[in-house]
Formats: sequence, C-alpha cells, structure tokens
Amino acid sequence: MAATNSNGIFKLPEIKFTKLFINGEFVDSVSGRTFETRDPRNGDVIANIAEGDKEDVDLAVKAAREAFDHGKWPRMSGYERGRIMMKFADLIEANIEELAALDTLDAGKLLTMGKAVDIPAAVHMIRYYAGAADKIHGETLKLSSEFQGYTLKEPIGVVGHIVPWNFPTAMFVMKVGPALAAGCTMIVKPAEQTPLSALYYAHLAKESGIPDGVVNVVTGYGPTAGAALSSHMDVDKISFTGSTEIGRVVMEAAAKSNLKHVSLELGGKSPLIIFDDANLDMAVNLASMAIFYNKGEVCCAGSRIYVQEGIYDEFVKKAVEKAKSWVVGDPFDPNVQNGPQVDKAQFEKVLSYIEHGKREGATLLAGGKACGQKGYCIEPTIFTDVKEDMKIAQDEIFGPVMSLMKFKTIEEAIEKANTTRYGLAAGIVTNDLNVANSVSRSIRAGTVWINCYYAFDAETPFGGYKMSGFGKDQGLHALEKYLQVKSVVTPIYNSPW
Ligand code: NAD
Repeated sequence: MAATNSNGIFKLPEIKFTKLFINGEFVDSVSGRTFETRDPRNGDVIANIAEGDKEDVDLAVKAAREAFDHGKWPRMSGYERGRIMMKFADLIEANIEELAALDTLDAGKLLTMGKAVDIPAAVHMIRYYAGAADKIHGETLKLSSEFQGYTLKEPIGVVGHIVPWNFPTAMFVMKVGPALAAGCTMIVKPAEQTPLSALYYAHLAKESGIPDGVVNVVTGYGPTAGAALSSHMDVDKISFTGSTEIGRVVMEAAAKSNLKHVSLELGGKSPLIIFDDANLDMAVNLASMAIFYNKGEVCCAGSRIYVQEGIYDEFVKKAVEKAKSWVVGDPFDPNVQNGPQVDKAQFEKVLSYIEHGKREGATLLAGGKACGQKGYCIEPTIFTDVKEDMKIAQDEIFGPVMSLMKFKTIEEAIEKANTTRYGLAAGIVTNDLNVANSVSRSIRAGTVWINCYYAFDAETPFGGYKMSGFGKDQGLHALEKYLQVKSVVTPIYNSPW
C-alpha cells in the first residue's frame, strides 16, 4: 500500500498484528468482536483489532499469574533478566522504521520524530532498566544482640498497565521496562485509539526470549477491558497513565476490589514562565515547542505561558509569527511540524475549547480553526488576555492552544503558576540563576525545566504533584513502584555484640 505526499511516495507500514497477545500467542477475543483503529489523516479504517473484554482479561491475568507464581522470570537472576531485556532493546532498535511508521499511522505523530526520538528513546529506556535488573538490593539490619535481619526487595507480582494514546511507544516501554526488570509479570491495556505498536512490541518481547505469560497485551476499550483489569482480584498493581478523571475511577476500582497498589500519571496544565532577561527568540521557540509539539497532545505541555511585562508585547508579536508559520499536515511528510489530532473526538474537543476561549473573552491572535481537506488537523492557536479563572486556563485542552498571560513580579508569577489543580511540570526561562533556583523550589510540580522544555531521559523521574497523580515513571524511582519490601529477622545466639 503506498500513498503520495509533497515529497514523493512513501510506504505505509504493513499491519501484522491485530489480535490479543496472551500467554505468548496472538489470539482472537473470546467474543470474537473487533474494533476499528483509524488513520487520523483522513478518518479511514486502518485495521480491525480484537476487542478484549472481561473474559480476555481473565485469561491474560491467569497467564500472568501462572508466569509469576510458577514461571522462570521472577526467579531468574537479575543479570539474566537484564540480558534478555538487552535483546528486546536490540530488536526494537532493529525495527525503528516500522515501529515509528505504526505510531505515525495510528496516532498522527511525526514520522521524523518517531525515528529520531520516540523509538530510540524506547531502546534507551529498555537498556536502562536492563542494566538496573541486577542492582536491586535490600539492606542489612543489625538490630540488637538477640536479633539481626535483612530486607528483600521482591517483585510486586502481576501488574496491569493501562495507558493513553499520545505516546504509544513511550507509554509501553516506560511501564513495561521497570516492571520487567523488577521481575513482575504483566498485562498491558493500550489505548483503543492506538493499539498497533503495543502488539508489535509484544511480538518483539517474545522474539527476545521473554517467557510466555510475562508480557500480555489486551486491546480493547477502557470501561470494559480497562475496568476489568483495575477491578481484578488477582492483579497486584495497576500502573495507570491517563486523565485525572479516569485515574479516580481506577483508584476506586482498586479500593473496591483487592486493594491493589495503584500509581497514577495523570493530566496537567503546566506553566512556562518567561522573565524579562530571557533571550527572546529562544523563549519564543521554547514556548512554541512546549505547546505545539506533538499537536499539544502532551501531558506536560506548556499550556499556560506567563511572560514578564517588559518583553510581553514583543514576545506576543514573535509568537504569533511563529504559530502562523507552523506547518501542519501529513505526519509522514518530513517538512510537516504537526500532524492531525489523534481522532475525531479529540479534534472536536480542542475546537470546542477554542470556541469557549472566544466566548470567555480571550483574544484569538493566531489559528483557531481546523485545516486541511480531511482528517483532524488544527492550526496552532494563540490566545492573549487570558484570565486564570477561564476554562481555557484551567482545563487540560490537550491540543495546540497557547494561553498567553502577563506578569510583573516573581511573586506574582509563582502564585499564578500554582493556580491550578494540576502539578505535572513547569518551565522557567531566565539567565538569573537565583531566580531560576528560587522559582523552581516554589512551583508545586513534579518536574521543572530551566531554559529547556521536554528534556526527557530514562534516568529522570517523571510524575505529578497534586491532581496530576503520584508514583514516578522513569528513573530508579519507577523500579521501586514494582517492588515490595520484605523484612526477614532471625535470632542470633550468644553474641556479645
Ligand atoms: P483516558 O484517561 O481517557 O484513557 C487512558 C486509558 O484508560 C486508556 O487506555 C483507556 O482505555 C483507559 N480507560 C478509560 N476508561 C477506563 C475505565 N473506566 N477503567 C479503566 N481504564 C479506563 O486518557 P486519554 O484520553 O487516553 O489520554 C489523555 C490523558 O492522559 C491526558 O489527561 C494526559 O494528560 C494524560 N497523560 C498523562 C501522562 C503522564 O505521564 N502524567 C502521560 C500521557 C498522558
């Protein structure tokens, strides 16, 4: 299958995997039902995917339970697990082109970024946790002259990963990597909008030698497959990434079932604060990237841009020029900077927020409309005169919509930046080290970027404050989420010490 764009002909990826992956096999759903995954460039159906429901989740949990209770994975040495994971990373690396193309087709993500960033970062992530697998240590406890003890860090058990659609690859490896290193077994429930790459990763996991039952993928909808996983009595932990609204539902389900562990990576409304002394061009570039990158479909998007009054007018002028020059179109085209929103529902949601902004009295200076003949593209949009209590300043729009606000003093910037129920990330642009340091301490968010934005790395813990959730992804903190601590105590006889 081929398609054309302004640069000639490119090949769309072949869809090899459309079934559930349970116990090392691709299988139909018990009901035989399927759902459509669609191409956001035009709304066309890409493939029919097996629709997992409660019965399928039960089978996947049974396989993961068996692999945990009786299988090799949790029992083998960390070194051996790491070795197999290294092979998994190598296979991902060998399939960069195909994996990137799947995410472009399914999620409307830029192919260039997939090849240069998303998939190489996934390889890095799996290698990072592979290296950590044999460095999981407990403590020795001297205790008293009668007792001594030690702690064991043990895998938490069967994990359910429920993930969103905005970074299908990053979500998969960020959850599966540390859980594998810890020795857990798992079921991944990808978002219904973007199931394709998760099934491909499952295939590569098997190829790499990860035993059957350790990684299972159940594609399907949230209220059915997702709910069955979060309320399952035999799942020991849910690692959820998604909206704050569904995070609450997942936590409730965990509480009402077996009190399974829960970690939540939720939504955000992150501020980017730009001070008068900033290099203006650099600040405009950073702000545009912070909100327009990946069409604004980023949990930590810099969606509230605060600019100090001395440079505000000039900043607005340059930011508007930049937004108007942003190229939106086919994400397979290397000259395009933004592809379409992930689906019709998301497209309509973003446009309705833009209408809301206009009605609330914000001034629309750039964009504000859909673009292109078909599909779900939206122009990079800028509002000024935005007030903190407006819906567009409070709600997570999850689209390319910048809200620009002016401030006078550092104290005012901090107060305004913290005026949100979310606390996922923040950015600061200044050359004054003291301002950067004191503002970063005052912002209630899990990540603060100084003179950069979206500077991600496998080593850096990422997760929210406030209603952006709890429990970190990435870094060694993420490994801890999949471990539990056992204290072992023994008497010691006739010790003078
Ligand atoms: P969502 O909450 O609608 O869905 C996330 C996942 O939950 C999907 O797999 C979905 O099928 C599932 N789900 C839906 N209803 C469920 C239910 N009743 N029980 C169990 N599972 C259910 O979110 P989305 O629209 O897919 O993604 C966008 C959201 O994700 C945004 O709020 C964004 O900020 C957030 N996000 C957060 C991070 C982070 O690291 N904090 C990263 C990416 C995305």
